[in-house]
Amino acid sequence: MRAAIQNLEICIIGAGIGGLTTALSLVKKGFQNVSVYENAPALGFVGAGIQMAPNMARILTHLGIWEKIATDGVAMEFYSIRDGSSGNNMGLVDCRNIETEYGYRQTGGHRATLVNVLYDACVQNGVKFTFSSTVNPSSEFTERPTFSVTTGDGARYQVQCDLLLGADGIKSNTRQAILKRLNVEAGVKETGQAAYRIMLTREQMQHDPELLALLDGDQTIRWIGEKRHIVAYPISQRSIYNISTTQPDVNFAAAASATYTTRGSKSAMMSVYGDFCPLVLRMLDLAPDEEIVEWKLHVHDPLPTWHQGSVALVGDACHPTLPHLGQGAAQAVEDGAVLSIFLSALPDTSPININKALLGYEKARKIRAETLVGLAAESSRELHLGPGKARDERDRAFTAMKTGVPGKVPDKVMDVDVHKMTYGFDCVQDAMERVLAVFGKGDS
Ligand SMILES: Cc1cc2nc3c(=O)[nH]c(=O)nc-3n(C[C@H](O)[C@H](O)[C@H](O)COP(=O)(O)OP(=O)(O)OC[C@H]3O[C@@H](n4cnc5c(N)ncnc54)[C@H](O)[C@@H]3O)c2cc1C
Repeated sequence: MRAAIQNLEICIIGAGIGGLTTALSLVKKGFQNVSVYENAPALGFVGAGIQMAPNMARILTHLGIWEKIATDGVAMEFYSIRDGSSGNNMGLVDCRNIETEYGYRQTGGHRATLVNVLYDACVQNGVKFTFSSTVNPSSEFTERPTFSVTTGDGARYQVQCDLLLGADGIKSNTRQAILKRLNVEAGVKETGQAAYRIMLTREQMQHDPELLALLDGDQTIRWIGEKRHIVAYPISQRSIYNISTTQPDVNFAAAASATYTTRGSKSAMMSVYGDFCPLVLRMLDLAPDEEIVEWKLHVHDPLPTWHQGSVALVGDACHPTLPHLGQGAAQAVEDGAVLSIFLSALPDTSPININKALLGYEKARKIRAETLVGLAAESSRELHLGPGKARDERDRAFTAMKTGVPGKVPDKVMDVDVHKMTYGFDCVQDAMERVLAVFGKGDS
């Protein structure tokens, strides 16, 4: 890569999984002037588990950090769907062949491990971080993007760079700036769903052999009921059982739209799942009152574009999703990898070619990410059905899966055709082919 390209001043807003992976992918390609600005005083929310799919693991391997993350994680052998109220197994998928087919196991991990390993690798490779700094990009979109930074103590300054990447999540200011420029309204959409996220330690579970068996087991389990479900799996070398729920958004519905998380009430949580089986109730009951946190789940409609001038969006800023396919972070990771391939093929540092690279990135990524957002929404509709014909049909489809008869799979995370499309697609290979068509060559 030529020195002028290596020295492009690249600023990233947000040190979430999307921003960190993008920064690491860029420095690994040889960019030497990459800065990340983060609102929070330290790395963002890391207090939960995350399912890491083979398509994410493949990229983290390219970046040289997967082994460290996988060692702390737990590879799952089966995916089990259970009726919430009876606890009966409705469908079971053997996930062991995922490794044979796609090279990696579906792995449950701790967000803190993923984020810290990414951050450490960024620091070791020269990425500069500025915490406690809220960024507001200008909607002027001059040749060199401009943004203001407000620090924790209220001081404000302006920055100009060659390339600005908004990995600033669902509330993205960068998205707002792009939409303002385009004169387009695309507000965040309510999904009507909220989530409790809980982590139980081995110590908390040790007096209940049935619960302990979940922690020592080899299954990701989804318990489903009308308008609600719970997904749970072991993480952190089986020292923690990670639980994430989805239920109707009651607590946030009346709150200001800026509110995305709140302290949850344990008694409200217990009553939402009050008709679930005793095993689930005992499990939820172990959560300490003061540790119940509830998250509001948001999406927005597909955007008209993910870029403008020398500014582009990454991750939840451009494709927020319901979490039911376990692909939100995986897609943010793919974004970072693909961006680095297009940018490292730049023939020069002109804004015209930077814009061409960002267009190439968008073309490589948008349809795929938005298709997966759609599949997560489809799963949500199926999983949360109430009594009636549609639910009977869904349950017959789950039963058919047990007998090995191929047919519709209502939970898309269990669907082998979805696996093929999601885990089997190598976005790095795809981007390397696409970049040739844009710049007539690969990495410069
Ligand atoms: C309940 C739940 C379960 C999930 N489970 C999975 C799963 O199993 N697998 C999976 O792949 N995905 C999962 N996801 C999705 C995944 O968490 C997100 O898609 C992913 O974390 C998005 O990363 P991001 O970096 O794009 O955004 P974020 O993680 O939101 O990061 C954005 C960062 O930008 C910072 N920021 C925002 N605005 C500014 C500003 N103006 N200035 C400076 N900094 C700013 C924020 O502080 C934050 O650190 C789940 C999501 C939820 C809600």
